[in-house]
Amino acid sequence: MTIYLNGQFMPIEEAKISVLDRGFIFGDGVYEVIPVYSRKAFRLGEHLKRLQHSLDGIKLANPHSDEKWATLINELISHNRAEDQYLYLHITRGVAKRDHAFPNPPVPPTVFMMSNPLLTPPVELLHSGVACVTAPDNRWLRCDIKAIALLPNVLLRQRAIDAGCAETILIRDGFMTEGAFMTEGAASNIFVVKGGKLLAPPKDHLMLPGITYDVVLEIAAANGIPNQVRKISAQEVFAADELLLTSSTKEVLAITQLDGKPVGGGKPGEMFTKLYHLYQEYKHDVMRA
Ligand code: PLP
Repeated sequence: MTIYLNGQFMPIEEAKISVLDRGFIFGDGVYEVIPVYSRKAFRLGEHLKRLQHSLDGIKLANPHSDEKWATLINELISHNRAEDQYLYLHITRGVAKRDHAFPNPPVPPTVFMMSNPLLTPPVELLHSGVACVTAPDNRWLRCDIKAIALLPNVLLRQRAIDAGCAETILIRDGFMTEGAFMTEGAASNIFVVKGGKLLAPPKDHLMLPGITYDVVLEIAAANGIPNQVRKISAQEVFAADELLLTSSTKEVLAITQLDGKPVGGGKPGEMFTKLYHLYQEYKHDVMRA
């Protein structure tokens, strides 16, 4: 596999970084995951905008212009064989003597990119949906930054795996109590469907502004699907007719079981089926354009 590291393309086996890299020492960096369909980066402009937001959030200068990123990304895509790929882009505050404060003067950031074949969910999973668990959202208060420091997300996702499930849905400000609300998944955004309406939590500092989340809301609006962005209580999650999960690599998936109980009818519902097909259509239209 060919990767990109600090200005050079090379086989992954040859890529080396210092143990003093602030990404390694402090998790001091940000990342992006960009799906590539038919060798074209999907929603690249939006991903680069979110990258800039994350960099601003950690006060790290963007090492490249959007044009330069696009050139590097296209070159990386061309080095890898798969038609559909998922590109991982990672920037840290660079290599410096260990000290919490930023290096002064600043040091060059570490810039790393790799690409792997993108395997979207198989048809069996689309038909069965996935099982999820819930857990208190114990992450920090800047979940809008796509930070590489993912230990809470790692532990929260592992809770799902240990329970034989796919994802953990996160609840803040209590749990089954008044005022408790849903933020997102450990590595995905979550939508609730109730009475034919698609409900999405607001993009604030408590969730990652998903690129797929935006696409789903755009598609819903364009196709006359009733939708609303607002705070969603924990009770509404447990009483949902349908629950949907979105991310760049999972696209749109139905959640058919929550904490061991069926969601709605326990099968992917009408809203899922509609949005899944509209998402596939949208994707193909964008890629053809
Ligand atoms: N929320 C979190 C915490 C994530 O890690 C991700 C992606 O991995 C998402 C949401 C979904 O974002 P996107 O649709 O841009 O992949």
